[in-house]
Amino acid sequence: MRRGGGEEGGRGVESLAGSPSIAASSVPLRINVLIPIAHPDALPHSAAMKAAFDEASKHCPPNFRPGDGIVLLPRRPLTDRCRLCGKNERLTKEHVPPKAAGNSTTRPSLTLAAWLAAENRRQPQTKTRSQGGVWGYTLCASCNSYTGRQYGSEYMGWAIRACGIIQQLPPVAALDAQPDAGEVEVTFGGNKDGGVSPGAFVRQVLSCMCTVSASWDLAGQHPAIRRMVLEGAEAQLPAGVHLGMTIFLGPITRCVGPTFSYDAQRNKWAWIMEVAYPPFAFKLVLASDEEEPDLGLVLNPFTELDPRRRVRLTAPLRIGFGRTPYPTDYRTGASVEMQRHA
Ligand SMILES: [Zn+2]
Repeated sequence: MRRGGGEEGGRGVESLAGSPSIAASSVPLRINVLIPIAHPDALPHSAAMKAAFDEASKHCPPNFRPGDGIVLLPRRPLTDRCRLCGKNERLTKEHVPPKAAGNSTTRPSLTLAAWLAAENRRQPQTKTRSQGGVWGYTLCASCNSYTGRQYGSEYMGWAIRACGIIQQLPPVAALDAQPDAGEVEVTFGGNKDGGVSPGAFVRQVLSCMCTVSASWDLAGQHPAIRRMVLEGAEAQLPAGVHLGMTIFLGPITRCVGPTFSYDAQRNKWAWIMEVAYPPFAFKLVLASDEEEPDLGLVLNPFTELDPRRRVRLTAPLRIGFGRTPYPTDYRTGASVEMQRHA
């Protein structure tokens, strides 16, 4: 995936391009049927779905407590397992995504349960507000300060660059009125700013995912991921684990722990997680019976890069909205409306 030299290679900034398969993709966004596993009554509506859920259940870690949304991001100080190093420690406040990247203001959010409970799904009735951004007591002081120091400012740099790109797009309302907001070709880093570090960026995202994985215990299940984040180890993500990114314009933000996702049309299942907070949405596939899950820009190759290595990155990025509380639903408002009436 690396492109050698070229005109931008002269000052030591390498060029890195996204996967060509993504560039060629103009596939309409797929809408997964999501089963909120906190509500077993909602399961399952068909024999095929039941079989998929039974199969998917075999891929859960033994200590995973389905639907542990309450402890996803504890809001009171506690001593518990640090979600990165795994040690039993006094936990500190971790923001997802990092506070420096703008996750510090109050944004409208809507819980999946509230949405489903609303009789008329066109007008969900319960709105909650996440005060002071999205955070929880999840990491020990050592892991919290290490990730902040090593990766926090890199993440912030990408968020600032993405906001600059968003400002050059058609107005957000105009994009939201289209059936599909499309893609934008982005270039992050150049000779002037010394390039970007995809290796540092992806480790910040993985740190967020470890935090949000709660009792799935992503770092404990996959010590390779723990080493990537805490030691900067360069390695492939474990088999079956896929990470993708989308430019995300909100307005609803989502921070979703391990959730069972089922595509009824194709009879495919996946355990997914999502952190969707403008300007980015990240989808992590924990396990799935899909060979190539729909991810947006695939970030997997970044984990094989030294977090200190700086490059120029050119990649097509899908533009998505948060118009529903359903994880990885990036449809525009116009598309949501259209499909409601279809
Ligand atoms: Zn720790």
